[in-house]
Amino acid sequence: MNTKPNNSQHSPPTEPTSIANLLAEARRRLLAAGIESAGLEARLLVGYQLNMDATRLIAHGEQALSDDQIGAVRALINQRVDGVPVAYLLGQREFWSLPLRVDEYCLIPRPDTELLVERALGRLPDGPARVIDLGTGSGAIILALKSERPRIEAWASDTSSGALAIAAANARDLRLDVHWFRGHWLDAVSPRPWFDMIVSNPPYIGASDPHLEQGDLRFEPRSALVAAGSGLSDLATIVRQAGRCLRPGGWLLLEHGHTQAPLIRRMFEEHAFVAIASHRDPAGHERVTEGRLADE
Ligand code: GLN
Repeated sequence: MNTKPNNSQHSPPTEPTSIANLLAEARRRLLAAGIESAGLEARLLVGYQLNMDATRLIAHGEQALSDDQIGAVRALINQRVDGVPVAYLLGQREFWSLPLRVDEYCLIPRPDTELLVERALGRLPDGPARVIDLGTGSGAIILALKSERPRIEAWASDTSSGALAIAAANARDLRLDVHWFRGHWLDAVSPRPWFDMIVSNPPYIGASDPHLEQGDLRFEPRSALVAAGSGLSDLATIVRQAGRCLRPGGWLLLEHGHTQAPLIRRMFEEHAFVAIASHRDPAGHERVTEGRLADE
């Protein structure tokens, strides 16, 4: 990195050549683009491009930057102003305190999904157990579970090979063992009472939902977000298939949209689940439903 002062005679004095000036410019542009956490994002993006953490950015605020560095930072800010999610620009998002790589092939893991992880941990037996995460995306859920319960035999699937590639890279980085396979829900899994737990955060947004045209969702894979039948068809497929591969007494836990809980509970009932309960996120919305497959 160029740490030499920039003594160029040609720069007009108002040109933002120091780190502090560039940070202020980035913040202004992000704010003008309607980004609420503009200050934080400015530090993240400038720091990422300059390879400096927030403390160093502040401590070295007076440091002058080269034209190349300034150009690179501005190009990154332009992308953010155009709406590209900050997680894709940084190539990373933290989930359950695990740093996960993310790219445009996977959904950006949401804090909401930590509710599913919490509930799943509450239902996992202490000893060994076989757990599968369907539609794993970045691997967020199964990696969080495996990090907490190293003794589980962890499985995960996705239809997207791009998502599986990033999930496997995350597992390597975190040194967590997961069996990955490509497949559509449980289609490729042989029907026998094999798993102690099935978890999934499947697509559950209806195709005409206006939220799809807002924020990060515009840039995330549609296949990770949208399901037919007003967003219910993948949830329904999983509930229908789950009984074939869960052992009696095994648990199914699903994340879903905040208006879908009564319908999901009904589906669970119709497919021989008992102890059915929905759980609320911090905003008070029912976002996770769980149930235990009835004993034979
Ligand atoms: N399981 C992943 C997550 O929760 C991906 C979910 C998805 O793509 N719908 O982040």
